[in-house]
Amino acid sequence: MSSYIEKVLKKIQEKNQYEKEFNQAVKEVLYSIKPVVEKHPEFEKSALLERLCEPERIITFRVPWTDDRGNVQINRGFRVQFNGSIGPFKGGLRFHENVNLSIIKFLGFEQVFKNALTGLPIGGGKGGSDFSPKGKSDNEIMRFCQSFMNELQRHIGHDLDVPAGDIGVGAREIGYLFGQYRKIKNCFEAGVLTGKGLSYGGSLARKEATGFGLLYFISAMAQHHSIDLKGKSAIISGSGNVAIYACQKAQELGIKVIAMSDSTGCIKDEKGIDIEEIKRIKEVERLRIKEYLKKYPDAQYFENIPNQPQKIFSIPAQIVLPCATQNDINLDTAKQLVKNGTIIIGEGANMPTENDAIEYLIQNNILLAPAKAANAGGVATSALEMSQNSMRYFWSFEEVDQKLKQIMNNIYSSCLDAVEEYNLGINYCAGANIAGFKKVADAMTAQGII
Ligand code: NDP
Repeated sequence: MSSYIEKVLKKIQEKNQYEKEFNQAVKEVLYSIKPVVEKHPEFEKSALLERLCEPERIITFRVPWTDDRGNVQINRGFRVQFNGSIGPFKGGLRFHENVNLSIIKFLGFEQVFKNALTGLPIGGGKGGSDFSPKGKSDNEIMRFCQSFMNELQRHIGHDLDVPAGDIGVGAREIGYLFGQYRKIKNCFEAGVLTGKGLSYGGSLARKEATGFGLLYFISAMAQHHSIDLKGKSAIISGSGNVAIYACQKAQELGIKVIAMSDSTGCIKDEKGIDIEEIKRIKEVERLRIKEYLKKYPDAQYFENIPNQPQKIFSIPAQIVLPCATQNDINLDTAKQLVKNGTIIIGEGANMPTENDAIEYLIQNNILLAPAKAANAGGVATSALEMSQNSMRYFWSFEEVDQKLKQIMNNIYSSCLDAVEEYNLGINYCAGANIAGFKKVADAMTAQGII
């Protein structure tokens, strides 16, 4: 290991010792960019890696709101503006009870490389709150979003920082956030948030983009490795925005999706998942996935056990798409997947695989499509939404989808180029990190010590 990288990692671990997820994400990137760093001794002189790993700005704030019984509740809000060297900060907002600074920093850090990989002019950021919309009424969610935006509005803008959705933040939450921003600023600044509804500046195909993009990336990878996806079996963890549209596109490509999950457990349907029923349960009714058995009593349900790997990963399938949350696949799960005959893993979620599990999977010849590249379709289409907002114009679904496909093919090519240039075998994780890093490092170097 390069001594410069070791030195930086040690410093970061000392400075952020309670931030497990952030340290994990930094370690994964810094180890993999070693061959590039070794070619550029000037990086050490300009402390490039130290600057890359320190957010430009961290904002935390109080979010008071009143629940339906009249009780005052307090949550904590975050926005981490990680790196703006190639464009305005861009990245989603996550509302989930386990959100903390470490999680927002890891997501913001990863976003920097992901956004660079899209080839579009967007920097990296992320935000959110330890507020969970689950079990809250629409009115409570609206009041929370309004209070959250009362503070966030000071720090965002279409040329400054453009948030979007993530776990717990979908079209409903973006609508309330946008409404409050418009009210406070007294202007219709459409490009300040993405993932908006179609009636007020949203883009067609944004909702589908992350899941569709994941399958476009996997298709490009499968084609390069002469693998026919048609007829292969798949399991998808999660049943939210990314999982649903990954399932839809997988089925369009002839893949048989046999299981999906939520945080409580998973359903297995050997005949193939009815995705329209999942949409009804999850997008419309907002119920638990177990509800699926009411319409399909022959399907099976397996309940998760707290602090143990999600049950879904024990169901054998050739394609595995983790589309729920971080660190779903640990080393034991990885071993199970290898035993189960998995060929391809496509990361729809951010950092769903632990570092030692990544290493094990690659050593065992599993094609791993890394999150920073494979789930970049969402943010890329958000950037297309910003372009349409600037032009005050809308592209058709087909136009946006076509651009998305092209972007995902380009991302795959960038990863492949890096893999070939640095003799990385099938290590697309390192390939994605290197391709994203080179672009950011170049922009940071050009802009001097700031
Ligand atoms: P949603 O909130 O729409 O769905 C999240 C899904 O994951 C739900 O099924 C949820 O189950 C499950 N889940 C969440 N937390 C846990 C947990 N701790 N354990 C088990 N299951 C869990 O989020 P998205 O689909 O938007 O996001 C999913 C992943 O994709 C995240 O990692 C996100 O960062 C990433 N991503 C999202 C993008 C987007 O465009 N939306 C873009 C790029 C990446 P339950 O309902 O029971 O909580």
